[in-house]
Amino acid sequence: DRFTKINLTTIAQESVRLFETQTLKRNIKMCLEADNADDGHCLYGDKTQLKQVFVNLIKNALEATPKGGTISILLSSTANTEEISIQDTGSGIPEPLIHNLGRSFFTTKATGTGLGLMVTYTIVKNHNGSVHVQSEENKGTTFQLSFPKWKQQD
Ligand code: ADP
Ligand code: MG
Repeated sequence: DRFTKINLTTIAQESVRLFETQTLKRNIKMCLEADNADDGHCLYGDKTQLKQVFVNLIKNALEATPKGGTISILLSSTANTEEISIQDTGSGIPEPLIHNLGRSFFTTKATGTGLGLMVTYTIVKNHNGSVHVQSEENKGTTFQLSFPKWKQQD
């Protein structure tokens, strides 16, 4: 693969920028915050794939969030991990459906493909990461991703 040292802050910024027109038009506030990390927020990975993860999750958040809502993207690190949280104030996911997330062709949208999360989960797995979903109907959803942090010896 084409794994290199990736700065998550950069690809998060690039991904957010792709949705600028759409968020403006629908009056959705999208904010990106990164806590202060000595070395930025870096991991060993494939830039194109990791960007696809941000794009897929932001796209879903936008599709679920009504006008005037908020999407917050937060980057943070722990001693050994890089954490990404993407939180929306959208429709939420009914509890009985949560276990279907990431299955190919699972969609609740009239014209959905049900492939975005499947691709996302596969990419996360390829990077030895994990996904945790928290959702409440009519309140919103948070996707929390965790990846091993970039270390000098990688
Ligand atoms: P698609 O977007 O084509 O439906 P995805 O794999 O991206 O396929 O998502 C699968 C399903 O997961 C969606 O149809 C939706 O029901 C649910 N989902 C994913 N993200 C969110 C979210 N942020 N808020 C509410 N539902 C979501
Ligand atoms: Mg989708």
